[in-house]
Amino acid sequence: MTASVEFRGLRRVFGSTTALDGLDLTIAPGELIALLGPSGCGKTTALRCVAGFETPDAGAVLVDGKDITRLPANRRDAGMVFQSYSLFPNLNVRDNVAFGLRVRKVPAAKRHARAAELLELVGLPTHAERYPHEMSGGQQQRVALARALALEPRVLLLDEPLSALDAKVRVTLREEIRRLQLELGITTIFVTHDQEEALSVADRVAVLRSGRLEQCGPPAEVYDRPSTPFVAEFVGTMNHIPGRLSGNEVTVLGQLLPVDGPVPSSSSEVDVLIRPEAVLVTPSSEGSAMIVASSFRGSSARLRVQLGELEVLSDVPGHEAMRLAPGTRVSVSLVQRPVLVAERTAAVPAV
Ligand code: ATP
Repeated sequence: MTASVEFRGLRRVFGSTTALDGLDLTIAPGELIALLGPSGCGKTTALRCVAGFETPDAGAVLVDGKDITRLPANRRDAGMVFQSYSLFPNLNVRDNVAFGLRVRKVPAAKRHARAAELLELVGLPTHAERYPHEMSGGQQQRVALARALALEPRVLLLDEPLSALDAKVRVTLREEIRRLQLELGITTIFVTHDQEEALSVADRVAVLRSGRLEQCGPPAEVYDRPSTPFVAEFVGTMNHIPGRLSGNEVTVLGQLLPVDGPVPSSSSEVDVLIRPEAVLVTPSSEGSAMIVASSFRGSSARLRVQLGELEVLSDVPGHEAMRLAPGTRVSVSLVQRPVLVAERTAAVPAV
């Protein structure tokens, strides 16, 4: 049932906009890949090329090694779920789910049985008689998922499926999508611009930038070892702290840290990218830094710390927020971990 998907040099231009600029990416059978990137980077266009709603100007889409680039949408084995639930308002849930089966002339008894099975799978076994307007957004999206799975597609395409839902439902439903996807073993492409969503749901995260693949890897790798400053910035938050490079080490805030990955060759004055959770603050009356703001998030708190002209962000456990209130004098140190080093940008003030 499941299949590999390959984007090979995919290119799509709309007037003066290049939506896809030679996208190369291979997705293994049964894998859930998140396409992540800022608005306009080509995520939806890539997905639509798999569904058959879009034809690339160059390059190819291969499913299990077979070129499907010019195959009509209705002859592709792909099920798609959109951000706006896009259920048929005049059909009840059962008929929405069974719609594709009806088009394929599957007898009523058989398609009703299949709809019941799918509604069970998405956790709505008692909702078959309801109409879309009688259901919450989360429930409608479950129905849309059931409908997308009705024809047993080999590839599941999810285009920002959770973006219209509120935060709690979004988390529950993404966990369920993942559970279902693993249970069915279906190759899935999940488009999102939400980095937390991508990291939590995917086997691999593919970060797109201007229609090209910037980096692709398991969530922890993309987060911990971003290959470019763009990925580092987009997947999480980064501090940019000035440092001095020497070989494979960098001196930053008076500490010597190992550098992982490529280093700029043009200058030893660099911009060191460090995650807020790698910045440790300790209350100290002799400290050279001061906490200027704190935003409490329950399990953690994000502190803004003034260090001379530089401001750095530090994430601390929530229970520490009380003793690290704004106005507290602190010393700052960095956790010894590999960091990404980039060309110094003008925006970074000297410490
Ligand atoms: P978003 O998260 O905002 O949906 P995206 O990464 O999914 O962004 P796409 O929808 O793939 O991006 O669009 C990529 C670029 O191509 C955008 O600049 C968009 O405006 C443009 N584009 C997409 N479809 C069309 C179209 N049919 N006609 C003209 N321009 C288009």
